[in-house]
Amino acid sequence: MADEEKLETVPCPYCRGVILVGAKRCKYCHAELAGMWPEEAADKKPGKNPALAALLSVLCPGLGQYYCGRTDKAIVFVFAFVVLVGLLYWLTFPWVFVAVGAGVDAFLEARKTR
Ligand SMILES: [Zn+2]
Repeated sequence: MADEEKLETVPCPYCRGVILVGAKRCKYCHAELAGMWPEEAADKKPGKNPALAALLSVLCPGLGQYYCGRTDKAIVFVFAFVVLVGLLYWLTFPWVFVAVGAGVDAFLEARKTR
């Protein structure tokens, strides 16, 4: 088989056992090897537009991360955004009534003095 001869092999960085380039896991020591093949990683993730990713995340936090395939990060950002917005809402919400009430009261008090 000509194809088999073309397959490149490298020594495992952990146990020095001969493994195939692109192997996900060493067949000898079972070490995780998925991260040591940069070419494969580049193939898997086609280039994303950084400007578009930034724009998406500005419009909706997490959307840019989702676009980049980082669903885990996207969830963190969306969660943080929702929590912050919810927090701000509940922190400011009662004060709107206090402020409007104070304004109306001040208005009425001022009328009394005329
Ligand atoms: Zn190994």
